[in-house]
Amino acid sequence: MNREKTAYIGVGSNLGNKYENIRQARNLLHKSSAVSVLEVSDLYTTEPFGNVPQEDFLNCVFKIETSLNPEELLAFLNNVESALKRERTIHWGPRTLDLDILFYDDLVIKTKKLTIPHPGIEKRLFVLIPLNDLIPDYIHPVLNKTCKTLEEELRSIDNSAVNPSGLFL
Ligand code: ATP
Ligand code: CA
Ligand code: CA
Repeated sequence: MNREKTAYIGVGSNLGNKYENIRQARNLLHKSSAVSVLEVSDLYTTEPFGNVPQEDFLNCVFKIETSLNPEELLAFLNNVESALKRERTIHWGPRTLDLDILFYDDLVIKTKKLTIPHPGIEKRLFVLIPLNDLIPDYIHPVLNKTCKTLEEELRSIDNSAVNPSGLFL
């Protein structure tokens, strides 16, 4: 069996019972013998990203430990999205569940299917804010800045609303 690696998963839902979707995602991940969910950030309510009119998102970040390699982890996350009946219709449109690999150990890769660290991290407060509940001092392996610094830099140019939801898993 592969050595366990730590990874951070960006989680979002804006369709159906969002809290329940995220709770079920956590449970489905945790049920796998190859994944343990170690921590969950606070949950935030976020105005949607992009130009598609849709409901607010509920966002958080999971810290996981896994024996899956990145490709296997992506396939597994896609299965969990499917289990919650995510339908890929409009890009950046409404979805019951979105699971993105933000960081995987200190790995840097870019293939057709997978870019790690996730390229949206430094552009998205709804990712950086929950990430900073967990790892403010973690240094982004490509940008060489802490997650806290990335959030501060983005806040100075982006005032999009990411609000504590008052919900916790
Ligand atoms: P974004 O990636 O900008 O947040 P999205 O989450 O809406 O957009 P999806 O339709 O969920 O996009 O995924 C599109 C493809 O992104 C997936 O099929 C997957 O192969 C690819 N992908 C590349 N890097 C990653 C990553 N780090 N985590 C998850 N998916 C990734
Ligand atoms: Ca995404
Ligand atoms: Ca995704």
